[in-house]
Amino acid sequence: MMEKSFVMMKPDAVARRLMGKILTRFEEKGLQLKAIKLMTISEDLAKEHYGEHSEKPFFNDLVDYIISGPVLAMVIEGDDAISLIRKMVGATNPQEAELGTIRGDYGIQTGRNIIHASDAPESAEREIGLFFNEDEIVDYDMVDNTWIYEEL
Ligand code: UDP
Repeated sequence: MMEKSFVMMKPDAVARRLMGKILTRFEEKGLQLKAIKLMTISEDLAKEHYGEHSEKPFFNDLVDYIISGPVLAMVIEGDDAISLIRKMVGATNPQEAELGTIRGDYGIQTGRNIIHASDAPESAEREIGLFFNEDEIVDYDMVDNTWIYEEL
């Protein structure tokens, strides 16, 4: 089933000039970029995005990290894209993330783990709504989709 995921390169990915390399992974996989925005997140938005963690001991450090510099927010679409992208991203702790995943290849500690990706359809919908207006999500066809999907 075609799904949209919310994916965000965190401030460390931007600061370490990893944006192009990470975006290339998604493009080369055959996924489709539907929206992209370089932005600095307000404290309120960071707290809302990570609301489920508000009682956790790492919450304040997490918010500080996420607002410490610009992030690259994206909507990425593909067949089963939410779980597929989570696989490409790897485990939350980069020490546990498999090599070959984004966190496994570029990160070392959980508090600097490079990238966020939605973990379920409900969170994808909520997060896309938090970061993007409808008119920022671009509807267009990829001519190579017939070489990526047996049937569309
Ligand atoms: N996090 C942290 N310390 C922890 C657990 C999580 O700093 O002990 C941060 C980390 O940036 C992580 C984010 O909080 O990506 C959200 O945590 P979650 O468990 O939802 O992991 P994710 O879905 O990002 O893999």
